[in-house]
Amino acid sequence: KTCIVCLGELLIDFVPEVNGQALADVTGFQRAAGGAPANVAAAVAKLGGDARFIGKIGRDPFGDFLVRTLNEVGVHTAVVQTDEAKTGLAFVSLRADGERDFLFFRDPAADMLLRADEVQAQWLEDAAVYHFGSVSLITEPCRTATLDAARRARDFGALVSYDPNVRLALWPSADAARAEILAQLPLADLVKVSEEEIEFLLGVDATTGAQQLLQRGPKVIIITLGPEGCRVVTARQDVVIPGTPVAAVDTTGAGDSFVGGMLYQLVALGATPANIVDALAEAGAAEQVFAFANRVGAITTTRRGAIPALPTLAEVQG
Ligand code: ATP
Repeated sequence: KTCIVCLGELLIDFVPEVNGQALADVTGFQRAAGGAPANVAAAVAKLGGDARFIGKIGRDPFGDFLVRTLNEVGVHTAVVQTDEAKTGLAFVSLRADGERDFLFFRDPAADMLLRADEVQAQWLEDAAVYHFGSVSLITEPCRTATLDAARRARDFGALVSYDPNVRLALWPSADAARAEILAQLPLADLVKVSEEEIEFLLGVDATTGAQQLLQRGPKVIIITLGPEGCRVVTARQDVVIPGTPVAAVDTTGAGDSFVGGMLYQLVALGATPANIVDALAEAGAAEQVFAFANRVGAITTTRRGAIPALPTLAEVQG
């Protein structure tokens, strides 16, 4: 099996034409395809991998734009279109003080209405990897759809990958976010987090946190370190894989493209839930997977946007 199946939100991000203003002051916005799991699928496809995105959009022009954008980079879309709600929108600005302003139009958005019975078995049965995040865990019915699909993909033999990607502005409270994100750890073989997310979720440093995360069920914890690269912790290893120095201009999508590069390499390595810990402990294997993922993330920061910034395999190897 080679297919990397990503399920979750697919939405439009409206980003300011110029940075440095509060949202109330921005006059011009550009549309960009958004949604972390969709970005991961796009990253895999751009590298030449076999990627499928499962989600729900409105039967509206923005939904059509999103499907077209994913198809153009080679993602196979398994997307349900609905009249019940419109495609989700998020307006985002980067203020002069470095803080981000968000305004979400999700009352509800179509992605939140994905139901478990809409996720077809044929979309999951050929999955080498099933990847999900936490935005689709915030409300029902998409929460149950996300978790049910994870269990079904796991039963078909897929490696389950989880990037909690904490977006507190979307949750009713920080406590609700923490509880739900932690509750789903046992479903995952691989979990990718940042140091800040470990601190938020567990209130401890990265070293202690990685061990605590392993005790909750996942076999591989990947801690992203920005320009420093990443740290990989399993029962057999704890290594830092140094990042690739670049002149970063926009870090949007770096975490998602890193995950895409990592999953692409794990499939190439033939990783399965049963063998992943031993496969990564083989000489050179962790470097092969994670130095590649670091390069994918690094290149993404050198260009604006998320999907438009994704590298091809030739660029990563060049
Ligand atoms: P998010 O995109 O949600 O912020 P994240 O916190 O996981 O996710 P980062 O740690 O910023 O994202 O980046 C992910 C990966 O991309 C890093 O592990 C690294 O490999 C690469 N990367 C990010 N920023 C840089 C940079 N300035 N220079 C080189 N590589 C980078």
